[in-house]
Amino acid sequence: MSNAPEKSPGNFIRQIIDQDIQSNKNDGRVATRFPPEPNGYLHIGHAKSICLNFGIAADYNGTCNLRFDDTNPHKENIEYVRAIEEDVRWLGYDWEDRLFYASDYFEQLYAYAVELIEKRLAYVCDLTAEEIRSYRGTLTQAGRESPYRGRSMEENLDLFRRMRNGDFEDGARVLRARIDMGSPNMNLRDPTLYRIRHGVIHHQTGEAWCIYPMYDFTHPVSDALEGITHSICTLEFEDHRPLYDWVLEHVSVPCQPRQIEFSRLNLEYTMMSKRKLTELVEDGYVEGWDDPRMPTIAGLRRRGFTPASLRDFCDRIGVSKSDNTVEMGVLENSIREDLNTNAPRRMAVLHPLKVVITNYPEDGEENVPAPNHPQDETMGMRQLPFTREVYIDREDFREEAPKKFKRLVSGGEVRLRNAYVIRCNEVVKNNQGETIELHCSYDAATLGANPEGRKVKGVIHWVSAKYGVSAEVRLYDRLFNHPAPDNAKDGRDYHEHLNPDSLRTMTGCMVEPGLANAAGGERFQFEREGYFCVDPVLSSEERLVFNRTVTLRDSWAKIEQQLKAD
Ligand code: ATP
Ligand code: MG
Repeated sequence: MSNAPEKSPGNFIRQIIDQDIQSNKNDGRVATRFPPEPNGYLHIGHAKSICLNFGIAADYNGTCNLRFDDTNPHKENIEYVRAIEEDVRWLGYDWEDRLFYASDYFEQLYAYAVELIEKRLAYVCDLTAEEIRSYRGTLTQAGRESPYRGRSMEENLDLFRRMRNGDFEDGARVLRARIDMGSPNMNLRDPTLYRIRHGVIHHQTGEAWCIYPMYDFTHPVSDALEGITHSICTLEFEDHRPLYDWVLEHVSVPCQPRQIEFSRLNLEYTMMSKRKLTELVEDGYVEGWDDPRMPTIAGLRRRGFTPASLRDFCDRIGVSKSDNTVEMGVLENSIREDLNTNAPRRMAVLHPLKVVITNYPEDGEENVPAPNHPQDETMGMRQLPFTREVYIDREDFREEAPKKFKRLVSGGEVRLRNAYVIRCNEVVKNNQGETIELHCSYDAATLGANPEGRKVKGVIHWVSAKYGVSAEVRLYDRLFNHPAPDNAKDGRDYHEHLNPDSLRTMTGCMVEPGLANAAGGERFQFEREGYFCVDPVLSSEERLVFNRTVTLRDSWAKIEQQLKAD
């Protein structure tokens, strides 16, 4: 794991593991797993779980398995399996030869279910789903026992075998654990272990099975079969832990993993529900799972995030048992810091305004050297063609401007970064009175970054009009304009909180010529504009598309402050 993270800070899970090692539990072995269900792409919340499980394995010289929890074939498919593998690998983690599927254990799970029946700890129940629900009782009211609870072992074995054989319709029967209908923990009120599901082709087992085990039965058994020592999951499974332990206690599995729960990641202005993310994709609200506005790992990658920035983010947010929501700014800071250090600088003009340097030779041109990174000489230099006509950004020019405007004004001077100081002598307008061109003069004695004896207020970026390359730039904003779109508590559905301006596409931008050769996914700082990467999906020989990964500074925080102040 060459690009894997530094050892992560301590947390309560690591304390438990430290104690287990001290008491030589599991012979000091540490084995974790990351168990995604292949029913969607991974999101930033999963990244937290991945970093935690693989990070612990790495730090304790242990192992972490990748295990697909594939017991719901009607919602799962192989595209998701492949995407998940790609995302985990991209994050910098390696499961080596430990890639598993819960479906690998279907035969064993069936045998353990038979074992439970033989111990009179499971029975086939003919109640309908609705009846089971009403028999279950409530938090304040005990459940009622199913009339099928007293079936003989022989009858149960026969019915369960016939369930497997396909003798019964979907929903006709289920296998249930026989625990306690009076338990204050609803999960222990004879939970369903197996259900019948015909007519689905499982991506791993095809049509071999028409009964599928439930998560609460599958998970502990899979963990035990893989020799997992610490089964780390999110807080909503806390109430399931007694059932997890019950299963492990009553079937003859080789070991006794321990379930530990931590709080899931919530991030402002987005949502983590795979079901709702699937809706966004399928209903066309975004361009796909890898849309750069999505909180998916594939989306963040396409947006320009690095694996290191996501691992850094997961380190920063920490691991605890208390529910919290993380500000988007924390995620943005992680990538900003990474790119500030590592992204080469380039010049790109997003709103081009032509500047003619009237005293520069008509067909003159020269190369001016420009550092790739102002603080890091090892990143080297590049040569930029300078010509009589250049583009600057419209935002960098005002005909009249207040004193604090440190860019170009009519009659004023400004430095073109890495090149010359120019003076604006004439503003050319069209019939509508719009500025279409500036006529400037340059001072030939001012070439370079900061020659002596020459003070101008501002420095702006530029691109040669002759050699610049046309590009499309996509600016992204929050996908939602509510901090908790799927939990807004205003009676409105998350769709109503979608931000209509989350994508702004700018065409006709001009970028420095070297960028024409940039590879898909390559990341840059466009000076004074932000961090950008080449969109690997939309870019082609004829079309150069950049995604803005993040702005230079946390402008969002400023806007929020403003909103609060108003
Ligand atoms: P669902 O079960 O609703 O499809 P899920 O988000 O639980 O969605 P899984 O594929 O079951 O998806 O998750 C795999 C692992 O990632 C689980 O161990 C789960 O606890 C963990 N996980 C999922 N969402 C988050 C989150 N927001 N923060 C931290 N861990 C998460
Ligand atoms: Mg889940």
